[in-house]
Amino acid sequence: FKTLFDLVVIGAGAAGMMCAATAGQRGKRVLLIDHATKLAEKIRISGGGRCNFTNLYASPQNFLSENPHFCKSALSRYTPQDFLSLVKRYKIAFHEKHKGQLFCDDSAEDIIRMLKSECDLGKVEWRMPCSVQSLTKAESGFQIQTDQGLVKSKNVVVATGGLSIPKIGATDFSFRIAKEFQLKVIEPRPALVPLTFDASSWEPFVPLSGISLEVDIDTGEKKNKAVFREDLLFTHRGLSGPAVLQISSFWQSGQVIRVNLLPEIDLAQDLIDAKSTTKKNLSNYLAAFLPARLVDGLLLAHGFDGALRIADMQDKRLRLLGEKLNRWELLPNGSEGYRKAEVTRGGVDTRELSQQNMMVKQVPGLYFIGEAVDVTGWLGGFNFQWAWASGAAAGASIE
Ligand code: FAD
Repeated sequence: FKTLFDLVVIGAGAAGMMCAATAGQRGKRVLLIDHATKLAEKIRISGGGRCNFTNLYASPQNFLSENPHFCKSALSRYTPQDFLSLVKRYKIAFHEKHKGQLFCDDSAEDIIRMLKSECDLGKVEWRMPCSVQSLTKAESGFQIQTDQGLVKSKNVVVATGGLSIPKIGATDFSFRIAKEFQLKVIEPRPALVPLTFDASSWEPFVPLSGISLEVDIDTGEKKNKAVFREDLLFTHRGLSGPAVLQISSFWQSGQVIRVNLLPEIDLAQDLIDAKSTTKKNLSNYLAAFLPARLVDGLLLAHGFDGALRIADMQDKRLRLLGEKLNRWELLPNGSEGYRKAEVTRGGVDTRELSQQNMMVKQVPGLYFIGEAVDVTGWLGGFNFQWAWASGAAAGASIE
């Protein structure tokens, strides 16, 4: 078939559907193309199946980018309250879980249905499943060669996301197209991902697998220092849980991460003070602060004898133990990779794009939105908020 659309959106995920619906409802003729057989798998599996669809406190400081200012404009024009109004209009039940994170009460499917309905309201047309073979700039507009024929459009939005979870259809399409149009791409890396350690250095901690506790975590860097207070989870291969997912986005290969297992206590001082007040041994004393299995594992791993009475220990040893538990430094050897990463860090360099509407400055009519762009949210509903905001910004400006 040969038709001229005002807009072809490639990728019917979070950002793509928001963009298509926005442009369609402004009377534009829009086609959405996706290669998947099932609509918006990533939304479906998000937030443990309940989709953490936004964060009430989303602000530019919750995003990583080579240019931290880039996201401000779009985020201020489509806010968490805007998305929440939509959710309420569709009578989708939701709740706040933790630190402003909003989740569906029932299922992420509610969000997918809502976005599909919004596209229907905008009379968006669909080709799905449909693969795009090439995208070329024509004299006016673009030609998109697909496995269902040639499509012509005045504008094209690339919304194919990042590289995380290839199993459900993630591809490098957006970065390939960016390179074809000679746009800079900030090196993509897995983010919001569990971190791993050398098998030999992790061996003492393997028995702790399954233990979870609230910690402070940071990268130990002075520059761009980030600290999170979240739950940490020990796994067979390393560390996971919200604390580690958050810090993984900031972590660079070769860097240590620093964990404070007792954020409310100066343990060295507490232990030294306790010498004159307790008859307990180390294990029993620490079990008041930390799960007993964790205490025993940590003491063993760090070379302390849990049976020693605190009163009999030297201050020097107690200080060392305090250091190990309040400022535990670990050197990850890598991450679980795109197989487990919730997002991709990096992406199309924001310097190539207009912050108003996500259009490529050098290629009028071509846009990149969502996770494909070098804007990466923290864990907690921020990545969807960026998908909605960047999608809405592009959709509102299509002519
Ligand atoms: P996507 O939603 O990934 O959509 C991209 C679309 O493009 C897909 O439909 C894909 O099929 C299609 N596509 C890809 N390649 C091609 C191609 N070559 N041709 C045609 N189509 C193509 N974020 C939150 O804010 N809250 C959460 O609770 C949350 N939970 C998550 C849980 C998991 C397990 C994962 C993996 C991610 C989670 N995220 C969460 C992140 C969030 O899902 C993404 O940041 C968001 O979906 C990005 O939106 P997007 O539209 O840019 O890309």
